[in-house]
Amino acid sequence: MKLSKNQYIIDETQPHIVPTDHPDRRVLQQLVNVCPAGLYQLNQDGGLSFDYHGCLECGSCRLLCDEKTLARWRYPAAGYGVTFRFG
Ligand code: SF4
Repeated sequence: MKLSKNQYIIDETQPHIVPTDHPDRRVLQQLVNVCPAGLYQLNQDGGLSFDYHGCLECGSCRLLCDEKTLARWRYPAAGYGVTFRFG
Protein backbone atom coordinates (compact mmCIF):
# COMPACT_ATOMS: atom_id res chain seq x y z
CA MET A 1 0.00 0.00 0.00
CA LYS A 2 1.31 3.44 -0.88
CA LEU A 3 0.44 5.84 1.92
CA SER A 4 0.95 8.86 -0.30
CA LYS A 5 -2.15 7.94 -2.28
CA ASN A 6 -4.39 8.17 0.78
CA GLN A 7 -6.55 11.19 1.28
CA TYR A 8 -6.81 12.80 4.70
CA ILE A 9 -9.38 15.27 5.89
CA ILE A 10 -8.00 16.63 9.13
CA ASP A 11 -10.02 18.06 11.98
CA GLU A 12 -7.58 20.73 13.11
CA THR A 13 -9.76 21.71 16.05
CA GLN A 14 -9.92 18.31 17.76
CA PRO A 15 -7.02 15.84 17.60
CA HIS A 16 -8.48 12.36 17.82
CA ILE A 17 -5.34 11.03 19.56
CA VAL A 18 -3.72 12.93 22.41
CA PRO A 19 -0.72 11.57 24.34
CA THR A 20 -0.36 12.39 28.02
CA ASP A 21 2.30 14.85 29.18
CA HIS A 22 4.58 12.28 30.80
CA PRO A 23 4.07 8.86 29.25
CA ASP A 24 6.18 5.86 30.16
CA ARG A 25 9.23 5.71 27.86
CA ARG A 26 9.10 1.93 27.54
CA VAL A 27 5.51 2.12 26.33
CA LEU A 28 6.42 4.95 23.98
CA GLN A 29 9.07 2.80 22.38
CA GLN A 30 6.39 0.20 21.68
CA LEU A 31 4.25 2.83 19.99
CA VAL A 32 7.22 3.96 17.90
CA ASN A 33 7.73 0.37 16.83
CA VAL A 34 4.12 -0.46 16.04
CA CYS A 35 2.71 2.60 14.30
CA PRO A 36 2.59 1.75 10.58
CA ALA A 37 2.55 5.43 9.67
CA GLY A 38 5.57 6.30 11.85
CA LEU A 39 3.71 9.01 13.73
CA TYR A 40 5.38 8.40 17.09
CA GLN A 41 8.97 9.60 17.31
CA LEU A 42 11.26 9.81 20.32
CA ASN A 43 13.38 12.95 20.51
CA GLN A 44 17.02 13.02 21.58
CA ASP A 45 15.93 14.20 25.03
CA GLY A 46 13.52 11.28 25.38
CA GLY A 47 10.43 13.37 24.73
CA LEU A 48 7.69 12.34 22.37
CA SER A 49 6.98 13.87 18.99
CA PHE A 50 3.56 12.89 17.71
CA ASP A 51 1.48 14.10 14.78
CA TYR A 52 -2.00 12.69 14.31
CA HIS A 53 -2.32 14.05 10.77
CA GLY A 54 -1.21 10.86 9.00
CA CYS A 55 -3.11 8.44 11.19
CA LEU A 56 -4.37 5.29 9.46
CA GLU A 57 -6.89 4.62 12.25
CA CYS A 58 -5.57 1.10 12.67
CA GLY A 59 -5.96 1.15 16.47
CA SER A 60 -2.61 -0.51 17.19
CA CYS A 61 -1.44 2.21 19.55
CA ARG A 62 -4.69 2.05 21.45
CA LEU A 63 -4.30 -1.67 22.01
CA LEU A 64 -0.76 -1.30 23.36
CA CYS A 65 -1.40 1.22 26.10
CA ASP A 66 -3.98 2.82 28.35
CA GLU A 67 -4.93 6.31 29.48
CA LYS A 68 -1.59 6.74 31.24
CA THR A 69 -0.01 7.04 27.80
CA LEU A 70 -2.84 8.26 25.59
CA ALA A 71 -5.22 10.69 27.22
CA ARG A 72 -7.51 10.40 24.21
CA TRP A 73 -8.00 7.88 21.47
CA ARG A 74 -11.07 7.90 19.31
CA TYR A 75 -11.91 7.79 15.68
CA PRO A 76 -12.08 11.14 13.91
CA ALA A 77 -15.48 12.79 13.79
CA ALA A 78 -17.77 11.99 10.88
CA GLY A 79 -16.45 13.43 7.64
CA TYR A 80 -12.82 13.47 8.85
CA GLY A 81 -9.97 11.01 8.77
CA VAL A 82 -8.30 8.80 6.21
CA THR A 83 -9.69 7.58 2.91
CA PHE A 84 -7.63 4.69 1.59
CA ARG A 85 -6.67 4.73 -2.04
CA PHE A 86 -5.15 1.52 -3.27
CA GLY A 87 -2.81 1.36 -6.15
S1 SF4 B 1 -4.09 4.37 15.14
FE1 SF4 B 1 -2.47 3.29 13.96
S2 SF4 B 1 -1.75 4.78 12.45
FE2 SF4 B 1 -2.92 5.92 13.99
S3 SF4 B 1 -1.36 6.65 15.43
FE3 SF4 B 1 -2.16 4.69 16.24
S4 SF4 B 1 -0.79 3.11 15.44
FE4 SF4 B 1 -0.41 4.99 14.23
